[in-house]
Order: sequence, then C-alpha cells, then structure tokens
Amino acid sequence: MTVAPTLPGAVTVRVPAKVNLELRVGPRRPDGFHALATVYQAVSLHDEVSVARWDEWQVVAAGAYADRIPTDGDNLAVRAARLVADRWDVDECLSIRIDKDIPVAGGMAGGSADAAAALVACDQLWGLGLDRDELAELAATLGSDVPFILSGGNAMGSGRGEQLAPVLARGTFHWVFAISDTGLSTPEVYAECDRLRERDGIDVPEPQVSSELMAALRSGDPALLGAALHNDLEPAAFSLRPQLRELRDAGVEFGALGGIVSGSGPTVAFLTESHEASLDLSVSLAASDLCRDLRRAKGPVHGAHVVATPRHAD
Ligand code: ATP
Repeated sequence: MTVAPTLPGAVTVRVPAKVNLELRVGPRRPDGFHALATVYQAVSLHDEVSVARWDEWQVVAAGAYADRIPTDGDNLAVRAARLVADRWDVDECLSIRIDKDIPVAGGMAGGSADAAAALVACDQLWGLGLDRDELAELAATLGSDVPFILSGGNAMGSGRGEQLAPVLARGTFHWVFAISDTGLSTPEVYAECDRLRERDGIDVPEPQVSSELMAALRSGDPALLGAALHNDLEPAAFSLRPQLRELRDAGVEFGALGGIVSGSGPTVAFLTESHEASLDLSVSLAASDLCRDLRRAKGPVHGAHVVATPRHAD
C-alpha cells in the first residue's frame, strides 16, 4: 500500500499490526487488569498515518476499514498527538489522515498501531528529537500494545504487555489471517475469560511464556512454532463466537502448521510452511466460506517508521 500524503508538509508513518504468538493471562488483579506474559510478532499488514499542520483538529480516514474508526477526539491517533502537544507545549492543531488496512477490533492492535504512528509522526513534524525511551514512556500511557508496535520485530511483553524484553529469533514466518465480519471488544473477551475460569474453578497461575515457544523462535522452524502457538483468551473467544473454532479447525485441516485466535480475536491467524503454502491455504479457506476476508502477511517486520517527510513528499 503506497499512499501519498494528502496535505503539503505532511509526515507519513507506516506502522504494522501484531500477532501474539503466545498469550498467557494471569488472574484478574484488584485494579481490573490482568497480568500478561506474551510474545509479540509484528506482521506486514500496515496502516499509514500522515500528520500535517492544520487550523483545527481533524481526522480523515481512508482504506478498507475507514468507516469503523472514530474521527473525533476518541481516535487513538488524535489522543497520541494531543498527548505529545500537551507534554511539549506545542500550540498547533493537526490534520491526521489514516489509511487503514489493519482490521478494526480484530485483535491485531490496529488502534494502538495508529497511536504509535502518530507519536513518531508528531516527533518528526515538530522536530522534538525524542529518544526511544521517551517515545516508549508516552506509548505505555496510551495502551499496552503501543510500546511493542513502536519497536516491531519480535518481543516478549509482561506487566499488561507494555514491559518489553528482546527475544532471540531467526527466520521469516508466513501467515494467513482470516478476518471476521464483526469485531470482538477486548474487555468483553477478558470478562468472558474470567467468567469461564470462575465457572470451571480454574486456579490460574502467574503467567509465563513457555520454553517451547522460545526454542521454536530461536530455531526459525515454522513447524515448531506452529505447534507452540498458544492463546489463553481462545476459549473465551470461542465461547462468544463458536464459529471461530470451526474456522480454526478448518485451517489446520487444510494444512496450516498452527492456528490461533489473534489476541482477543476474532481474527484467526494461521502459520504456514512457506509463501506458496500461504497462497494454497488462502484458496482453501476462501472456498470454505467460513470467513469474510483473508490476508497474507509475513513477520517479523519493523515497527512504526517514517516513510515520507515534507522534504521528500509532495
Ligand atoms: P487490540 O488487539 O489492541 O486489543 P483490536 O485490534 O482488537 O485491539 P482496534 O482495532 O484497536 O482493536 O479497535 C478497538 C476500538 O478502538 C474500536 O472500537 C475502534 O473503533 C477504536 N479506535 C479508536 N481509534 C482507532 C484507530 N485509529 N484505529 C482503529 N480503531 C480505533
């Protein structure tokens, strides 16, 4: 996707989606959050966010999912830009254009991606020269996934997912993402997870990433990684959308090395052996009529990065 900045003087940032290769969810804490242990991978489904000086705040949304995001102050890119403006006393308004290619409410951190992109774009537009730590600190106040989306690649996340640690990984992995018609809200899925655990009397341990997943990433072997994929939120997503289980099972039957609900869903992520295998799987899943849309992507990819500045754009 190449989209020219819409306004003179715009800075454009390209930003990836994420998939959780493993998501372990601890008990609900008194503050309502759950402790997480997760391994993220950034994948090549991208949004592009362009910011330019304007005489009032405005959001222009374009692309496949444009009609599903707010264009007022609730937009996460606006919240990120305003946070930077407040913190550094910048008395300017922005026009923010979002070319949206990351599924909305799909468990792929689309809103977090736009927030991360807006941070990087504002830093560049306003010449603030923020370092990685300053950006990461701002990112963590905007959402648990935002720090990871800034850095991209593969990383382990703890706390609420915002405390990152590097992981040793090699290779490129080929994914097929099966996208559903209706989104699932993240709080709804966590609430269902709590409900199921309480109903079944499950004693929830402190979350920890498995050694199998870390070994699979180190090896670069997609078959090992496919077998190690895990998501503690999957039973809750299946409970709320039973057809997702059918979709996951179909993908595995069609030859995926592993299938998993992405984050809080409802997108289902399938890992395949190769680029060709991802094409074959897409064809089989498309014929099955079990999902609305299919997207192929590879990972890991870079985090939010500037692709056009006023000097190069226009
Ligand atoms: P996560 O994986 O981080 O839990 P998600 O991918 O499931 O999130 P999002 O696409 O981030 O979900 O959307 C969550 C909500 O945030 C939706 O209700 C959406 O309308 C809202 N939202 C606000 N700003 C944005 C934005 N810039 N892009 C996408 N969604 C946004």
